[in-house]
Amino acid sequence: MTERILIVEDEPKIADLLQKYLHNAGYQTHWLSSGIGVSDWVRIEKPDLMLLDLMLPGKDGLEVCKEIRQFSPLPIIMLTARVEEIDRLLGLELGADDYICKPFSPREVVARIKAILRRLQAFAAASNNGGSQTNVSTLLELDRDRLTIKAGERETTLTLVEFELLAALQQHPGRIFGREQLMSRVYSDNRIVSDRTIDSHIKKLRKKLAEIIPQQELIHSVYSVGYKFEA
Ligand code: CA
Repeated sequence: MTERILIVEDEPKIADLLQKYLHNAGYQTHWLSSGIGVSDWVRIEKPDLMLLDLMLPGKDGLEVCKEIRQFSPLPIIMLTARVEEIDRLLGLELGADDYICKPFSPREVVARIKAILRRLQAFAAASNNGGSQTNVSTLLELDRDRLTIKAGERETTLTLVEFELLAALQQHPGRIFGREQLMSRVYSDNRIVSDRTIDSHIKKLRKKLAEIIPQQELIHSVYSVGYKFEA
C-alpha cells in the first residue's frame, strides 16, 4: 500500500521540493496551501501522515493541529522556521508527533516520516500480538522544577535530557518512540546527534530508575525502532 502524505505549506517552492522527494521515496502526496479546510480534507481523505507548517494563512499550524487532534490520531510533523517556537510547541503538548526546523534538508524530512510510519507499524504489530498497555504513570512522581523523580520514599535527580526523555516516554505508556522522535523532544535546536547519544542517555536514565524502583524495568528497548515505557 502506498502511504499518502498531506503537505500543508503556503510556500509553493517548499511544497514542490517536498513533493518531489516524497514521490521519489515512494509516497503519494497531496498539497494544501492554507490552514482553512485542512480538517475537512483529513476527515474525508484520511491521509497516513501530515507535514504541517506552523505559519500559514487563514489558520495557523497550531490551530490546525488542535482541530485534527479532536478527532484523529493522524501522525503530524510540524515544520517551523522559528527555532524558538519549538520549546513552546513541546510545552503545549499539542499532540504533534515530531518537529522539524526550517531550513531543513528534504532527506531529513523523508527520514523522519519513515521513522514515524515504521514506529506505527511496529506498534500496530505489537498490539495485534496482544501487547498490553499498563498505565504506570501513577508509579512515578516527576518534579520538573527540581528535575527529580520520586517513587514512594525514594527519590533521585535527573539531568534535563534524562528528565525530558522520561517525561516524553511515560506520558504515553506502551507507545513506541523512535530515536529520532526522542531526539527532537530533547534537542530543540534540531542539532544532529547520533542514535548512540540517545542510547547512552537512556542507559543512565534506566540506572537511576532502577535505584528508586529496583523491582521492575520501566523503559524497554524495541529492536531497531526505539524505546517504550511500560510496567
Ligand atoms: Ca509558512
